[in-house]
Amino acid sequence: MMVMVDFAIIGGGIIGSAVARELARRQAGRVIVLEKEPALGRHSSGRNSGVIHSGINQKPGSLKARMCVEGSRRAREFCRRRGVPLRECGTLVVARGEQERRLLERLLEMGNACGVPDLQILTSGQMADREPEARGVAALLSPTGAVVDSVKFLEAVADEARELGVEYRLGTFVHRAEKGRLWTVEGPLDAGHIVNCAGLHADRIARMMGVRPDLRIIPFRGEYMEVSGLGVRSMIYEAPDLRFPFLGIHLTRGTDGRLLVGPSAVLSFGREAYEKQFPVQEAVEMLSWRQFWRMAASAAFLGLAWRNARTSLSRRAFEAEMLTLIKAPGPVRLKPARAGIRAQLVDSSGRLVDDLVLERADRSTHVLNAVSPGMTASLAFADYVADAALGSAPPKAV
Ligand SMILES: Cc1cc2nc3c(=O)[nH]c(=O)nc-3n(C[C@H](O)[C@H](O)[C@H](O)COP(=O)(O)OP(=O)(O)OC[C@H]3O[C@@H](n4cnc5c(N)ncnc54)[C@H](O)[C@@H]3O)c2cc1C
Repeated sequence: MMVMVDFAIIGGGIIGSAVARELARRQAGRVIVLEKEPALGRHSSGRNSGVIHSGINQKPGSLKARMCVEGSRRAREFCRRRGVPLRECGTLVVARGEQERRLLERLLEMGNACGVPDLQILTSGQMADREPEARGVAALLSPTGAVVDSVKFLEAVADEARELGVEYRLGTFVHRAEKGRLWTVEGPLDAGHIVNCAGLHADRIARMMGVRPDLRIIPFRGEYMEVSGLGVRSMIYEAPDLRFPFLGIHLTRGTDGRLLVGPSAVLSFGREAYEKQFPVQEAVEMLSWRQFWRMAASAAFLGLAWRNARTSLSRRAFEAEMLTLIKAPGPVRLKPARAGIRAQLVDSSGRLVDDLVLERADRSTHVLNAVSPGMTASLAFADYVADAALGSAPPKAV
């Protein structure tokens, strides 16, 4: 029997679930979430650093900056209300020399322009009072930075969506999409409007529907190590390289008490190659894209690739990188922890797209670059996506 819904959402990650919840809050009709995995949180939304970012490294005026600052406030409020494990411990970005001290000043200006509350530059003494093992000449403190259990956050958002009437179909892979109709393993489904929140596969779904075939998702794996032997209490970040949409390496004490360091940013030849697999068919497809070769030709990208390949291949290099941020009081032990894969959008000139991207087509809306801090932004961004899906907001042009 043909199923008919008002809104079909492809992907039950944090973005799809937040959008479903928002549509249900607005009583927009029958909403269904189609998720190919048997459980939630198998991809980016369950494999990230768990940081509710305050917005310090976002570009003033960007959609991401607005969504991050507002999303951070809403995510912390949501977690407190729903009892999701949350540590409101603040974020420190350390400067390891004079050049990075100037970068902190720049981050302070950017953060203030974005409306990030209560930012402050700390002297090395003040930094040591908060985090005695942090290494640096100064630090930027963002007191609203927090750490959440990402899977529990996602489950709580999905639970609230279900309570509002959203139907979840797990283990339901969408293999074909066109205007008003989806084909799943369970058969076809008709939808008044389709919202594409397929994360690492969002460009493929968009292309099936004739939307932005010029854009490609290129996957970047982020590898984490679990560290023992350090007393880090909160979060310590290196000053980011603002040319890239990725944050640098950082140490995060999770809500479970474990200390993780990472993630790296390594080019991955498979969209779900968490164990460093090399799926030949996918790799050949990626190597045939002009977007890939244009990206690969940039000198900045080559520098990033070299640095990250070293830390991916050598635990000693990973540890050396970590020790530029921290003074270890004794021997430290690193063991491989989870990996996540960033769904990084690349445009036809080979540029890594920095901002969140939303494309609106006839009876469909596509979220195409939900990179970090997408989890932080999710509840605010869901409002923006719901406006677009309901036809009241302009789409964001890339
Ligand atoms: C290493 C790493 C660290 C990060 N750290 C942070 C952080 O600390 N803070 C922060 O705010 N953000 C962070 N992010 C970003 C954040 O995780 C993402 O922005 C967010 O999870 C994106 O959510 P999503 O729902 O778009 O993607 P996903 O969680 O990947 O969800 C997409 C879902 O779509 C499903 N799907 C795909 N194709 C189909 C199909 N054809 N049919 C049915 N279902 C389909 C997938 O199974 C998946 O569950 C990080 C990301 C990574 C990779």
